[in-house]
Amino acid sequence: MLNIGAHLSSSRGFLAMGKEAVSIGANTFQFFTRNPRGSKAKAIDPADAQALVEYMKEHEFVKILAHAPYTLNPCSAKEETREFAHLTMKDDLERMEYVPGNLYNFHPGSHVGQGSEEGVRLITKMLNEILTEEQTTTVLLETMSGKGTEVGRNFEELRSILDGVELTHKMGVCLDTCHVYDAGYDIVNHLDEVVEEFDRVVGLDRLKAIHINDSKNPFESHKDRHEKIGEGSIGLEAMTRIVSHPKLRSLPFFLETPNELPGYKKEIELLRACQTQ
Ligand code: FE
Ligand code: FE
Ligand code: ZN
Repeated sequence: MLNIGAHLSSSRGFLAMGKEAVSIGANTFQFFTRNPRGSKAKAIDPADAQALVEYMKEHEFVKILAHAPYTLNPCSAKEETREFAHLTMKDDLERMEYVPGNLYNFHPGSHVGQGSEEGVRLITKMLNEILTEEQTTTVLLETMSGKGTEVGRNFEELRSILDGVELTHKMGVCLDTCHVYDAGYDIVNHLDEVVEEFDRVVGLDRLKAIHINDSKNPFESHKDRHEKIGEGSIGLEAMTRIVSHPKLRSLPFFLETPNELPGYKKEIELLRACQTQ
């Protein structure tokens, strides 16, 4: 069975997201830990978090994925922006322990002209200051499209970050299909080769989640605009191969397509139906 969910609004709390996921045929979901533009997070209701943990067991959920705010940039040139990234991730990871053993994804950041090497150094520095041996959450680096000065535009940059982190067993990667296609990895015509390259450079054991999005823009455009499944430049045939790929098919997939709940429900049905045996 395909493990799949969608990005849900966290405004009504944890258990509400679990129920919403079930209502669209999902067995996982993604959510923002706080407003995507940053800002203070609402206090956690421990009873609500515990209710979700139990609900997930009853409904045979796989791991859920928290997404850090977009404004989090650990490799900014500005000290105060780096400080915000540090405080936000530290707080998010403490909060994630209310729903232990799940996944937390973040955009590695933008080096804003300092160079990707300096970007990688600042990102690993923050991770080394924050990660703890006790944490039960796995922190994921998201593959990026390479717009602007984004770090994580190729597998090598992700490898460099993973190599610099002391508690590297607490780390993994989330592959975004729209981002890698926009970055220049041809998952439409050469999926096997891209998967092999990921394995060679990063290691498939690091791959913990997939953001399954079509792209509004052509191959290698470095743009990052998501499209509905089957309506973009990646297309349904390639999506079918991705969700059916022997090395990918058992991972949790998360939709971040431009949809409301009914649209997500349709895409979940569609992708479940097109996964081949
Ligand atoms: Fe993302
Ligand atoms: Fe994504
Ligand atoms: Zn994106």
